[in-house]
Formats: sequence, structure tokens, C-alpha cells
Amino acid sequence: MKERLDNQGQLLPTCTCTTCGKDLDAATDPTGDARPKVGDVSICVYCATLNVYDNDLRFRKPSEAELKEIQKDANIQRLISIIKAHNKDLN
Ligand SMILES: [Zn+2]
Repeated sequence: MKERLDNQGQLLPTCTCTTCGKDLDAATDPTGDARPKVGDVSICVYCATLNVYDNDLRFRKPSEAELKEIQKDANIQRLISIIKAHNKDLN
């Protein structure tokens, strides 16, 4: 269950999405085999918004500067679109 581990091999804490409030207890790297570390971006599977791992590997909202950088990342924008389309299909 490596999806529940951080990049140090420690169990990820349950994180609460800063937008929808749902708890997330696992993470998947869609482009490789990385595990979460401080400063990484996470996309909530429930609401497709962005969270950033803080120093305790819990979620915080991204700063305005981080949001500007993230908006330039085509991979993240594509993943947000996929999650939104998937969630729309479920409704
Ligand atoms: Zn959410």
C-alpha cells in the first residue's frame, strides 16, 4: 500500500481537503512512482481543487504565487479536467 506512504516511507496522515472538507488518506502519482513530500501539490478527487502538503504532510491552501505556477502546468490542468469529467459522469 505504498499510496498511503510519504516519500520517507512513513504512513501519510489523513488529510482534509481545504475546499470541500472531505478526508483523503492516500495519494497517487499519476506520472510516476513518487510519494508525497512537503510542498507537493495534490488534487482532491472529490472536488478537483488543489491542496499543498505542509510541513506535517497535511493539506494547506496554495498561495497566490503557487496557484500562478500551478496554472502554467499543463499536466496538472489536464488532471483537473479529467477528475471533473469523471465526477460529472458519476452524477
Ligand atoms: Zn475537495
